Amino acid sequence: MAATQEKGTISIHTENIFPIIKKFLYSDHEIFLRELVSNAVDATQKLKKLASLGEFTGELGDLKVEVSFDKEKKTITVSDKGIGMTGEEIKKYINQIAFSGATEFVEKFKDKTDAKDIIGKFGLGFYSAFMVSDKVEIVSRSFKVGADEAARWECDGSTEFELTPAEKAERGTDVILHINADSEEFLDEWKLKGILEKYCKFLPVEIKFGTQDKSEEDGVDEEGKPKYKTVKTDRIINNPAPLWAKSPSELKDEDYLNFYKELYPFSEEPLFWIHLNVDYPFNLTGVLYFPKVKNDFEMQKNKIQLYSRQVFITDEVKDVVPDFLMMLHGVLDSPDIPLNVSRSYLQSDANVKKISAHITKKVADKLQEIFKKDRADFEKKWDDINVFVKYGIISDEKFYDKAKDFVLLKNTEGKYATLEEYKEKVSATQTDKDGNLVYIYSSDPGKQDSFIQAAKNKAYDVLVLDGVLDSHFINTLEQKLEKTQLKRVDSETADKLVDKDTKTESVLSTDEQEQVKGIFEKAINNKSFSVAVESLSPDELPVLITLSEFMRRMKDMAKLGGGGYGFMGQMPDNYAVAINGNHSIVQKILKADAEEQKIKLAKQAFDLALLSQNMLTGADLTSFIKRSVELVS
Ligand code: ADP
Repeated sequence: MAATQEKGTISIHTENIFPIIKKFLYSDHEIFLRELVSNAVDATQKLKKLASLGEFTGELGDLKVEVSFDKEKKTITVSDKGIGMTGEEIKKYINQIAFSGATEFVEKFKDKTDAKDIIGKFGLGFYSAFMVSDKVEIVSRSFKVGADEAARWECDGSTEFELTPAEKAERGTDVILHINADSEEFLDEWKLKGILEKYCKFLPVEIKFGTQDKSEEDGVDEEGKPKYKTVKTDRIINNPAPLWAKSPSELKDEDYLNFYKELYPFSEEPLFWIHLNVDYPFNLTGVLYFPKVKNDFEMQKNKIQLYSRQVFITDEVKDVVPDFLMMLHGVLDSPDIPLNVSRSYLQSDANVKKISAHITKKVADKLQEIFKKDRADFEKKWDDINVFVKYGIISDEKFYDKAKDFVLLKNTEGKYATLEEYKEKVSATQTDKDGNLVYIYSSDPGKQDSFIQAAKNKAYDVLVLDGVLDSHFINTLEQKLEKTQLKRVDSETADKLVDKDTKTESVLSTDEQEQVKGIFEKAINNKSFSVAVESLSPDELPVLITLSEFMRRMKDMAKLGGGGYGFMGQMPDNYAVAINGNHSIVQKILKADAEEQKIKLAKQAFDLALLSQNMLTGADLTSFIKRSVELVS
């Protein structure tokens, strides 16, 4: 078959004009390189496939793809030794853009084997070359023809093209870009290397870009010691067999840790990982790592990289991965995620939804597996993963359904319990008169210690819920758990935390109670504190300051910007001051002679309560200390 020589016009029908328009969707000009190298890799893979099917029987030889550039001539060349194209094929595949060679290839071989390994989903592909070029040349020799039957195609991006016969010694394709004036920045070694490393780092065929120095043994010197010389070797920019493309059974922990280091050189070791490997009903591979989640978890987002058949697509996986999984690190590879489409489309894409659900399930399964296999190990990791698990529980119904069995509650003694275990543990002591379970928690064990001790004296258990997400987590728990309420340990006096309708008798008469109330009101002299005399057990503190659970939650919501609660943020805190009428200090106050002394003692008791909660500061603290000195001297 003689090579054709012709000039012609590329026919653009309305139905195939779309890919050209699509070119403008690529805001990043640098992706031309990704597209051309992908095509070269694609052509190489096709040849390998043909060889494995016995349709190509020649020598495969060195199949490296090479990228090179010439600053003087202002060209960038991508060369492969893949299947190549005849002149006719160039006309068909390149000119009739809408005609995807990949489609035909897959069509032709789909019955023999799965032709899945072929990159060809990029649609526009080749034409992206015109984003950076005045002129593009293709010199190609198909595996089917001889050296003198190669073809040269030239086009300046208009619909005019020229096709001439050419001589080419080796099978394969050279795509030569004549870089335009606006794109000369690409004629730079570090620029090109950077782009290749970004998009092509894990392509399945070796990509050569320039050379590098390597030291090699070179005989021995007079003393018999080995001598070395520096030799130039091909600089291969990619790792053609990345970890996620391998079978989990042939990998060791060390391999996963090394790969993690390769991806994130400056990160701490991950806690554990999952290897995804799905064929049906969609194609997905990848490795997701669980990092140690710090409280500034927002910072850790955008660490997952998305690939399509080992071609890097993006590190913005926002719509592919549910929000709470954004904290994970690693790689996802799926040819089934549509590329270069708008976000809203992505969100509603059926495959994306399935993939996202699958990942959620796998993550939950993995956590469950560790929990079941090694509870102690799971507990050890809990502090690092709890933010992540809670985020999932709050935001994803399906995740909650699984996580409810392994989410842990930690108490002030550092003991962990599952939801089920915890219910069992506290139901005897912490059920109120209406049959509601009351879980008591501390958001700051240091500050709330006196309350924690008081609760413990009543044989209550106190949980520690002091994380960034815990206020949301508490709300979710209350919605999910039946007849269960969570109360912060300082929201009531210990007697009232779990309302059991048992009253401690008051030693004070009604009259005395009024008197005590009046004294304290004078001593406190602040509208934000409403005073009540209560009959608590004598060994409770004389004065307790609490902020109701309801009020505090409203304010927390306002702080977090929860809709509709904004006005709450403006309200002054309204504290309840409980005076323990049964405490001996109250008797002392009542018995004091002078009004002045009564108020002084009341003020002292009140300040002690403030102090125990870290609420006493500034001038109030100074006068408290002065008063204390007077009282003890
Ligand atoms: P796509 O890769 O999505 O099919 P392209 O516009 O990138 O779209 O390429 C169109 C077709 O041209 C390819 O399907 C392939 O048949 C052919 N082609 C492009 N580059 C090469 C190459 N380096 N070697 C062989 N064929 C190629």
